[in-house]
Amino acid sequence: MDMAAAKKLNENPHKLYFKSLLYVERWFTSTRFEVIICDQEDNLVFKSNGPLHYYNMPSMEADIRALMRGLDEATLFGINHISIYCPPRHLIFEYLLGISYPKEKEIALLMDDVKRIRNRFRSSKIVMMFEEDVKFVSRLSIETCIICLENIRPELMFSGCEKGHRICLTCAKSHIKVKLLDGMIPNCPQLGCKSQLSIVRCGEFLTENLCLMWKQRIKEDSIPIARDFTVHTKAARI
Ligand SMILES: [Zn+2]
Ligand SMILES: [Zn+2]
Repeated sequence: MDMAAAKKLNENPHKLYFKSLLYVERWFTSTRFEVIICDQEDNLVFKSNGPLHYYNMPSMEADIRALMRGLDEATLFGINHISIYCPPRHLIFEYLLGISYPKEKEIALLMDDVKRIRNRFRSSKIVMMFEEDVKFVSRLSIETCIICLENIRPELMFSGCEKGHRICLTCAKSHIKVKLLDGMIPNCPQLGCKSQLSIVRCGEFLTENLCLMWKQRIKEDSIPIARDFTVHTKAARI
């Protein structure tokens, strides 16, 4: 980043949008965060989403953790002035303004953490989102799957690759199935990425049969000597 761009980032107020979502599939539940940072003219500066936890987290806790993620990202970007856009009619808006206080201890402690992170900024404003802000943000949060090229909601995207490459769940399932039936260990479909997919992460939405097949492939892959031996004995017999 050049000096002028860095100065612009530091001095201009930025908008932070955050939310959490619960993603439930047949074998698979996770709580995810979504964070979007825009400049004053609504140009996208940063966007991130991912799992907060692999279980169903209470929604207030999840939203606060999503906000903390967003504030952390904004600090990393060197942003000094932030406007925190709260989802409409959300209690977090009242907590942030100090109009009301959380009754549960865990939530109160999390809000203390938020306060500490907010102190890192030279200014942080609290704004309640209008319907048009909500629409604007949901347009920004759409992702494109590299396989089917469809525009997909982030909670329907999936990453089993250690580098974080993402494809939609439908494509993930068929990609893994094709690879396994071809006798291969499923790799990441991103061009140029050599990572193998994680059987633990993917196993959560695969059928038992495909999981067994995958484990079998890993087993076969780890005993190349035994395979060579079989080939040789066969050759010797001929
Ligand atoms: Zn896809
Ligand atoms: Zn990858």
